[in-house]
Amino acid sequence: EGKNSQLQQRKDDALPRGTGNLCQWYVDQAENATLRDVEGNSWIDFAGGIAVLNTGHRHPRIVQAIADQLAKFTHTAFQVTPYESYVALAERINQRVPIAGKAKTAFFTTGAEAVENAVKVARAATRRHGIITFGNAFHGRTFMTMAMTGKVAPYKRDFGPMPASVFHARYPNAVTGISVEDAIASLHDLFSHDIAPQDVAAIVLEPVQGEGGFHIAPAEFLTQLRALADEHGILLIADEVQSGFGRTGKLFAMDHYSVQPDLITMAKSLAGGMPLSAVSGRADIMDAPGPGGLGGTYAGNPLSIAAAHAVLDVIDEEQLCQRASELGATLSELLHRARRANASITDVRALGSMVAVEFASAQQAQALQQQAMARGLLLLTCGPQGNVIRFLYPLTIPDAQFRQALDILDSLLSQP
Ligand code: PMP
Repeated sequence: EGKNSQLQQRKDDALPRGTGNLCQWYVDQAENATLRDVEGNSWIDFAGGIAVLNTGHRHPRIVQAIADQLAKFTHTAFQVTPYESYVALAERINQRVPIAGKAKTAFFTTGAEAVENAVKVARAATRRHGIITFGNAFHGRTFMTMAMTGKVAPYKRDFGPMPASVFHARYPNAVTGISVEDAIASLHDLFSHDIAPQDVAAIVLEPVQGEGGFHIAPAEFLTQLRALADEHGILLIADEVQSGFGRTGKLFAMDHYSVQPDLITMAKSLAGGMPLSAVSGRADIMDAPGPGGLGGTYAGNPLSIAAAHAVLDVIDEEQLCQRASELGATLSELLHRARRANASITDVRALGSMVAVEFASAQQAQALQQQAMARGLLLLTCGPQGNVIRFLYPLTIPDAQFRQALDILDSLLSQP
């Protein structure tokens, strides 16, 4: 019996089944866009650790930055003993977030924790309780973010009751026929059925829904949401945990829109594989919670902060936003061509390198995922039915390897 199947047996014995794993192989090493398993097989990584590796596995600049920090100190707890690198990273992010006026930033560890803290800040700033999110949204697995997530199975089923004062509106979706007008009308329905607008602290949205299927918010939707929020004194929070740090062809997905949110959450590719998240927002709003109200033992870990500084350097120096646009355009062209020839493909969506192909059924998406896996290409699904394949390759992937992956996709998609 191979090492991989032995490990999977040990895993099944030692871990609860709730911690699922997609691959039946165990990683030994990784570099840029290549994963190698314990049996010496390798895969092209189009999963990127679920949108964490826009700068690839073990980018030399990031490895060096972590090593340099490792030689100085690895933990102090920022709220006890602060360090400059945390402050400097906040300064750098404040300069670049699409927030009107002066911005401030606080660091945390996971994406869910960033969303939790954005809600805390919004409630403290507005002195209101209501939180509106969207159907098929994903915001995390902690209690508040689980309540905010707009998908029951597998995320919420069995785990209730959920925290109160969380309401779901509809997110525009051209495939299922939810127009911008329908989505805005669903917010007005909440205001008449569930909660008065003057009790709502924030509307939280992913400008591109990630787990929900890579649905891109139409510009008109953001414009109307901003107007609605302003009319009622509601804050607008953009959850950019999955869409941030160059993935969409700009540093943040909100950079594609003419309106700006009041708060932004980020994580994943922020620190290139190290655990780090952040909340940025208008300074007056961010200052609402009192001293000690925000933080966490590991929040803004020095190794993660060092990695994030290097991530920002690499994004700029290697022009990864531009590269995201170019790679995404090449991939979408292939997918649009495949769609014309393959009736099981029902939609192709792309904003930069946040690219997805939707199939009529989950079986078709999973079949492609399995065939690609057998050919050495790791793909992820998403969408409410798991009928969407999403592409989250490192933006640093070498051209030849990207071509190789596209050739695999092309041959699989053109099979009858
Ligand atoms: N928000 C969004 C938009 C996400 O995609 C995710 C993770 N998939 C989260 C929040 C939660 O992040 P984490 O798993 O780091 O808690």
